[in-house]
Amino acid sequence: MSWDVRFKAGVHLPQIGWWLDAHRAQSRSFVSHAHGDHIAAHREIVATRTTASLMRLRLSGRRRENILNFNESWTAELGTQFQLFPAGHIFGSAMLHATTDQGSLLYTGDFKLRPSHAAEACVAPRADVLIMETTFGLPRYVLPPAAEIENRIIAFCRESLASNITPVLYAYSLGKTQELLQIVGRAGLGVMLHAHGHRMTKRYEELGMILPPYSLLNEKNYAGYVIIAPPTSAQTPPLTWIHPKRTAIATGWAIDQGAKYRYGCDEAFPLSDHADFPDLIALIERVQPKVVYTLHGFAKEFAATLRARGVEAWAIGQQNQMELPISTNVGST
Ligand SMILES: [Zn+2]
Repeated sequence: MSWDVRFKAGVHLPQIGWWLDAHRAQSRSFVSHAHGDHIAAHREIVATRTTASLMRLRLSGRRRENILNFNESWTAELGTQFQLFPAGHIFGSAMLHATTDQGSLLYTGDFKLRPSHAAEACVAPRADVLIMETTFGLPRYVLPPAAEIENRIIAFCRESLASNITPVLYAYSLGKTQELLQIVGRAGLGVMLHAHGHRMTKRYEELGMILPPYSLLNEKNYAGYVIIAPPTSAQTPPLTWIHPKRTAIATGWAIDQGAKYRYGCDEAFPLSDHADFPDLIALIERVQPKVVYTLHGFAKEFAATLRARGVEAWAIGQQNQMELPISTNVGST
């Protein structure tokens, strides 16, 4: 069987009837991790225990959960063997490796090769067909060394607190909040979390992650603490009651000039849970694929970069700027 890979609000493998991170409810979907754009009310899922648990926190309803440990094999339709590998993006995030006797396919979901303080270390196995996220698929997206970013974040918090100003770090509730908590908490600073992030962080602990102390944001007693809150909460109470404050956003897009003005913050730190450009290239070297499909962000541009390096690559879900006709049915032998 050659792999038929299609895209329509998620990746679809019609030959075996499975979707990968379908955006809309489907009968069967692999769920790589519990971020909002990767979950929907599917009838049956394959996921890690951590992802299934976080998904339950964010999405009501019942579904059949096929829970896989990393490296464990599971037989899907037509004898296809599914195996999950850590994606390094957030806690529990996984890549799906699917094998038939004709060849293998690896779907990365969101991933990061650099170590994270709040996710398992990424392991990317070899595969014939690679479907990868390419959020930061332009050469200018090279993140600074982790220690440099972390020292800047800690210095921002310490300097603010020394001036009796409350530092507020804006970051997504799931993943980035816990990574920031590890960075700031391990530096010995007290941390208060917005209710959304607090809920996710408690679940991280229930699932076995060891974290520094933290408490729920108390709008009357926040002096001396670092506050971590989702960017969407910036214009609403209790964040609007925190005064005086200095704000910072933690995002890979901070690489772009003027990011802090675009986000309306005093600072922008390039802390990302996605692969940067060198990570994307390193993944290709690890997986050694015969064909690559790119997804998200600069997918078209990254596919063109790969073709220029002699790797067959196609952006899916987007128009390719192509010199060759597109075939969606690519043999994997
Ligand atoms: Zn994600």
